[in-house]
Amino acid sequence: MSTPTPDALINPQAAIAYWSSVTTDNAGVLGGYPHVSRVDLQGSTTFLAKLRRKSSVFPTSRLLSRTVDCGAGIGRVTKGVLVKVAEVVDVVEPVVQLTGVITEGVEFGELRRLGKVGEVYNVGLEDWTPRYAYPLIWTQWCLGQLNDEQLVDFFGRAKGGLEGGGWIVVKENMCTEESGEDLFDETDSSVTRTDRKFRSLFARAGLKIVATEVQRGMPKELYPVRSYALQPV
Ligand code: SAH
Repeated sequence: MSTPTPDALINPQAAIAYWSSVTTDNAGVLGGYPHVSRVDLQGSTTFLAKLRRKSSVFPTSRLLSRTVDCGAGIGRVTKGVLVKVAEVVDVVEPVVQLTGVITEGVEFGELRRLGKVGEVYNVGLEDWTPRYAYPLIWTQWCLGQLNDEQLVDFFGRAKGGLEGGGWIVVKENMCTEESGEDLFDETDSSVTRTDRKFRSLFARAGLKIVATEVQRGMPKELYPVRSYALQPV
């Protein structure tokens, strides 16, 4: 019998059990590293601004109509990046306790009143199909919960939900194991992929990389974090 690939070890029930048990704050969704949030959000804002500066379809000067935060947790990226660039932000996040912060928390009260919080889909990305045409689909620190097949399928559906000239952004930890293989993480039953694996899955899904960069200023003991902006081939 061949050894199973790391992504075969992903157990969605175990993943949801873990994410249902974390505190509903930055420490909870960032695995005990709440202080990386600031530099992360800043990096994302700059990455996005650079993309849009080169875009005639979605220039920086105009708000995007609608965007979606995939695997949003408590809406850290929604609040720190996406509501500032879009009129409405939809949320995909399977754990209801986490989206409670967005739908009921005082932190999001003003944004809700302003109508900036759109649809909240409490499902995993493997079960989500976009119902709008988005100029921007943001996925961060959650794709490791999907196995390789599910991820390629997800990218296919996300492509279908992308406006012409729009982007899928993927921002994830990069596995740097010497073996060159992805690594299964028991804590949240996820897989940490290598840059090489991500690139091969993008290619399989018919997506090309139009911009990519490593997040600066992350603690040395953590995996490097890389952002990719993707468009259909
Ligand atoms: N993207 C957010 C949250 C990261 S924590 C941020 O950067 O702050 C990882 C999130 O992935 C958790 O909220 C967890 O509930 C969510 N998650 C777990 N399984 C998922 C799945 N199958 N699809 C999408 N998100 C999932």
